[in-house]
Amino acid sequence: MKEKTAVYPGSFDPITHGHIDVIKRALKIFDRLIIAVLENGNKDCLFSSAERVNMIKDATKNMRVEVESFSGLLVDYLRKKKTVFVVRGLRAVSDFDYEFQMAIANKKLEPEIETFFILTDKEYFYLSSTTVKELARNKANVSSFVPKNVQGALKRKFM
Ligand code: ADP
Repeated sequence: MKEKTAVYPGSFDPITHGHIDVIKRALKIFDRLIIAVLENGNKDCLFSSAERVNMIKDATKNMRVEVESFSGLLVDYLRKKKTVFVVRGLRAVSDFDYEFQMAIANKKLEPEIETFFILTDKEYFYLSSTTVKELARNKANVSSFVPKNVQGALKRKFM
């Protein structure tokens, strides 16, 4: 059978245990995951795309993943990677509206695309990169929310 690869796109500014939980679950379904770090998001990022890619690589060692940055339309990126599968995480209902719109828009652009929504463990249901940054900015302990390398990177940013 052909190997199944999916793309997990996002800002990952920075990667959290919530993202990692989604990655682990996605790897139960797909043989390989390409974690695609968005370069030209409409958000102001704390970390550069190179920093975000390196943090993810470090945090996902020994997993069947490939990490790289991308810009432009997701559908074009999927074509380049020769896959039609997209993975996104779903948290509380607040994510639903936006995710639904994105999935429908992508499907309009490329009907073959299938978006898979994966829930996280309830522990990470309310965890976001934004919250983590806010906590770290105020010198709170974020060890239960992000991998060790990210904890260090946040400390250095807010020193
Ligand atoms: P984006 O800017 O594309 O929303 P994020 O890095 O914030 O990028 O999120 C990437 C994906 O990971 C999104 O599908 C988001 O819903 C999901 N995600 C983020 N945090 C969590 C979490 N704690 N649990 C489950 N999914 C999450």
